Amino acid sequence: MMVERWLMEQPVYLTCEICSQLRDVETSFSKYGWPDMDRSLPPAAARLVPEGPTDSYESERHHFRRCPLCGTRYQYDLTYDYYVNGSEDEETLTRIFPPDEGSQAA
Ligand SMILES: [Zn+2]
Repeated sequence: MMVERWLMEQPVYLTCEICSQLRDVETSFSKYGWPDMDRSLPPAAARLVPEGPTDSYESERHHFRRCPLCGTRYQYDLTYDYYVNGSEDEETLTRIFPPDEGSQAA
């Protein structure tokens, strides 16, 4: 079947139940006291597993997450800005492509 072959050639993150829900870069935004402006990461992002402990100030804000189904890695960054009219939280989740992807086909 051509359709199956096409699927087989897709990168794993496009067929993964979790990763297919995530774009290459996902961001969230929340502003204290302004719930209308809130934008959350997709629910699938919550299923990713941090690669290490996230209990320190720095590691909570910047760490790597891994998909428990296919192993695709993501970098997670949280920035926090204080403003007089309400502080802002912004999360960025960036997919990390395997370093050897593409080079194997060359
Ligand atoms: Zn995945």
